[in-house]
Amino acid sequence: MQTILITGGAGFIGSNFVPYFIENNPEVKVVNLDLLTYAGDLSNLSELEGHERYTFIKGDIRDRSLVEGIFEEHDITGVIHFAAESHVDNSIKNPGVFVETNVNGTFVLIDVAFKKWMEKPFQFKEAYKGCRFHHVSTDEVYGTLGETGLFTETTPYAPNSPYSASKAASDMIVRSYHHTYGMNTVITNCSNNYGPKQHDEKLIPTVIRKALNGENIPIYGDGKNIRDWLYVLDHCTGIELAYQKGRSGEVYNVGGKNERNNNYIAHSICEQLDVLKPKASGSYKDQITYVEDRAGHDRRYAIDASKLEGELGWKAAENFETGIKKTIKWYLKKYDL
Ligand code: NAD
Repeated sequence: MQTILITGGAGFIGSNFVPYFIENNPEVKVVNLDLLTYAGDLSNLSELEGHERYTFIKGDIRDRSLVEGIFEEHDITGVIHFAAESHVDNSIKNPGVFVETNVNGTFVLIDVAFKKWMEKPFQFKEAYKGCRFHHVSTDEVYGTLGETGLFTETTPYAPNSPYSASKAASDMIVRSYHHTYGMNTVITNCSNNYGPKQHDEKLIPTVIRKALNGENIPIYGDGKNIRDWLYVLDHCTGIELAYQKGRSGEVYNVGGKNERNNNYIAHSICEQLDVLKPKASGSYKDQITYVEDRAGHDRRYAIDASKLEGELGWKAAENFETGIKKTIKWYLKKYDL
């Protein structure tokens, strides 16, 4: 049985991915390496406690001897790398840790994998032929769009925040290990995810929580920033497909063709809460307030996922309206309301 290393599996996307992947791949064992920063939450993985094909290790992807030990002890034959500092606002306040984790951490992982799996550049050790390093990245590396156009895999990189710059740098490291050493890599660049298990600090959980607590719902600037929203489990199916079937050295964009601006997001959540948890009087929309915009706030992101769809047959199962319903129901349970 093969063992793959998943990093950052206690974060938002990782904790959706790991149970899905274990269930869907009965012949694979998973080791989840996560530092449990403020963003990691093991309670999101409680369904896997005691699972025979699942091991959790608390540790840092930057810790080379730890990573080498994990590759040795578990004989790792694949990596799906989620671990990162991921919150743009935090990267504006404290960019250093983004560079350390996202850039140095990615370097440690791929370099250890290279040395474990390969005899020399372009020659895998017999036992490790086919071993793959999958790097999970973001559409933010492409910068911002005007009113029209979509990010494709060939859009030039133009990251605008310390977060996206650190992710762009990590993508380049992975790319270089394919071109210089012949490593079997895949990179997926995904648009904004939403769904169960997302950290409270992010937009959609914030809108739901503040609405239900009777607080102001803060929206940056004029609320017209557009993101291409993807339900997290659709991202998980895209990653699984790209990991298993993507061509070596390729990049695949993942996005749901669900461009919505922040005003639309806040209004539609409020409308659904008005039905599911009506207020004594008025609408949750009355709580929406506009706050000073984020520094360097990108205006619009939108993804062209036709490569992943055409080559690998991926298709998002949810649109924003169906996905947000599921998401709100999950948070109502979480907040015990
Ligand atoms: P997250 O912040 O929710 O989770 C990150 C996880 O990484 C946490 O569990 C944290 O404890 C762990 N971690 C942080 N530093 C670590 C370190 N040094 N060593 C080991 N573990 C560490 O992030 P997320 O939203 O789940 O995103 C996962 C990946 O997907 C990231 O690489 C992110 O760039 C990418 N991504 C996210 C989105 C999104 O909308 N959330 C969109 C596209 C791409």
